Amino acid sequence: MKDLFTPLLDKAAARPRDDYAVHFLQELFEECVEMEITDLHFVPGKDFLIVKVRKNGELYPIATLEKEREPLITGRLKVLAHLPQYERHQVQDGRIRFEYEDRAIDLRVAFLPTLHGEKVAVRFPQKKQLLTLDELGLFTEEKNTLKRWAQAKEGMIIFSGPSSSGKTTSMYAILQHLYQYHGERLNIFTLEDPVEYDMPSLNQCQVKEDKGFSYYEGLKSILRQDPDVIMLGEIRDASTAYAAFQAALSGHFLLATFHGQSPAAVLFRLMNLGIDPLMIASVLKGIVHQRLLRKPCPHCRRQDKVAIKGGLACSIDVHYTAQGCEKCYYTGIASRLAVFQVVPLEEELKTMFLQKTDYSHLQKHVQEKYLAGWNQKLLNLVEKGEIFLNDALLLLIDHPAE
Ligand SMILES: [Zn+2]
Repeated sequence: MKDLFTPLLDKAAARPRDDYAVHFLQELFEECVEMEITDLHFVPGKDFLIVKVRKNGELYPIATLEKEREPLITGRLKVLAHLPQYERHQVQDGRIRFEYEDRAIDLRVAFLPTLHGEKVAVRFPQKKQLLTLDELGLFTEEKNTLKRWAQAKEGMIIFSGPSSSGKTTSMYAILQHLYQYHGERLNIFTLEDPVEYDMPSLNQCQVKEDKGFSYYEGLKSILRQDPDVIMLGEIRDASTAYAAFQAALSGHFLLATFHGQSPAAVLFRLMNLGIDPLMIASVLKGIVHQRLLRKPCPHCRRQDKVAIKGGLACSIDVHYTAQGCEKCYYTGIASRLAVFQVVPLEEELKTMFLQKTDYSHLQKHVQEKYLAGWNQKLLNLVEKGEIFLNDALLLLIDHPAE
């Protein structure tokens, strides 16, 4: 990855000081767009300025610049973002619009004072493509469960997983599915920060905390608009959670993201927020827990032998490694693939939940009942070259030895 930027850096270094940052940043931005980079970082050190980029969720250092370049670069970035250059000791946020191949591209830029200078993060717009339920990468059984929940048009589905794990993409796939079947006969609302996809057939609302339009206030306003379906970008606090469950209880269909390390953890966190287990058990249809895993580049991947032993109740013979090639910008990674754990809140689980079974029992039940085939499913993806073995190993459930 680093070598790809060498010509650009050499060219920039040869330029006169006055000109340096103007051309360097324009060319760097263009290269980042070409390579579908999501974030660009300028990290000030004691003697150097390190430049890093993030692609497919991975961070790559691409250059170490002399410290004297730092004020030129941060100064130019502030000019582009229409921010005061003299202000170096305060957090600043702005936007930069730059032209590339007849396109206007909007970047988000943030400055943070650190011990050795201003750390700058530049966020590139991500090419987000709407996916259908069939395209998400769900196994057939999981897909059918989601379709069944969507067809009922009532209750709530919670999506959990780390940030940037594709939760919004999954929720939009369900909204699309509903729109495809019911069209204008459904009032569909989304409340997000930011609105990630443009679907004119929906009522999409942007949260504006500074203007008093929070998730909680937004949800209350949407409920006065005769909604059928509501997608909530995030449940962060007890009042929003309570309002969401109330809305689902009164016949609306809600999709929401909520943070939790696992499906069982989601249930426990909801209870800790003070939501009555009876209320959760009566409206929650299930939990979709997901992650994005790195996909080996098909052009440079190589098959290797492997043997999985131990009590993991799964096996494979081969896996793939990828050294990197021109096609994957020498990263070895082609893209990312979503993997899902779909856990329905069925009677047995509801009963355990209502009896306030402790976390470890609930977790064990979920793993044994709903995730029994999880390890093998993951390893099948490894064997097919869809994901890396190391990433899969971190997610294997440690089944007791049989
Ligand atoms: Zn490759």
